[in-house]
Amino acid sequence: MNTIGVLTSGGDAPGMNAAIRAVVRMGRNLGLKVMGIRRGYNGLINGEISEMDRSSVADIIQRGGTILHTARCEEFKTEEGVNKAVNIIKVFGIEGLVVIGGDGSFMGARALCEKGLPSVGVPGTIDNDLAYTDYTIGFDTAINTVLDAINKLRDTSTSHERVSIVEVMGRHCGDLALYAGIAGGGESIIVPEVEFNVDDVCKTILEGKLRGKHHNIIIIAEGVGHANELSSAIKNITGLDTRVTILGHIQRGGSPTAFDRILASRLGARAVELLYDEKGSRVVGVKGNDVIDADINEALKMKKDIDHDLLKLARVLSK
Ligand code: ADP
Repeated sequence: MNTIGVLTSGGDAPGMNAAIRAVVRMGRNLGLKVMGIRRGYNGLINGEISEMDRSSVADIIQRGGTILHTARCEEFKTEEGVNKAVNIIKVFGIEGLVVIGGDGSFMGARALCEKGLPSVGVPGTIDNDLAYTDYTIGFDTAINTVLDAINKLRDTSTSHERVSIVEVMGRHCGDLALYAGIAGGGESIIVPEVEFNVDDVCKTILEGKLRGKHHNIIIIAEGVGHANELSSAIKNITGLDTRVTILGHIQRGGSPTAFDRILASRLGARAVELLYDEKGSRVVGVKGNDVIDADINEALKMKKDIDHDLLKLARVLSK
């Protein structure tokens, strides 16, 4: 293999730049030509492709977002779109591809593998919703962003003796809510994987109040929905002043943490090594402290679940 491509796709995540840097520099180290594809699969279809050298990724390890930009591309979900991309790939002489993104982007990578282009997926998403890996790039930074918000809300919530509901990202996966909730000492953590009951949440609030708690922080994943309705219900039942804060896209930004930079560096480099060894249809990840790779089909079939023990621990420790 002489030439590889790299793109970022789907929702952005802090650490994507560190992963691009690792791909380019490991690629150059192995004597490969590395082509940067802009705007995800859109750029692949439209030929927005140019060569990247070592200096093109200088000074980006600390930057959030992605210098290659990212996009969603409906056309790429069609056979016609994938065929267009395959033609462009041939024009640019790309023989292997690194796709940095979430599960949707991995499905795109799988479509290219099926057309004979060896592709490797690098997990870049703040949701941590991929079952085959312990952590995805961007998750740790997002936890810390949420944690910073929780700390600030705790101050004002204590002063006013209010209940604070914090809605965090995570459509189908409650990991961000769970990890940030544990780290921030949230009284209730509500995730899409486990049914919740408003009465239980109110009981926790009222019991806390009896013990002299002056604040109450509830972390809810966006996939559960209805943060405002939950707020009204709590207000009605407990009589306490309740406020909702929706953190939104702030969670996608910011300088990546050391953890995410190191993870991105290791995973980006491993993805290139796999392509260099002519191994396509793979995804890379981390299990314990080991970098692993897995078959892309197997990885996409795996069902992610919340860590129920950690959720139980959070309940015990917040009382
Ligand atoms: P993420 O990668 O963050 O999960 P999306 O689910 O939005 O983000 O997917 C990103 C892009 O991946 C889509 O816009 C599309 O171009 C491509 N993609 C998603 N699903 C498929 C699919 N089934 N086949 C081909 N490409 C897909």
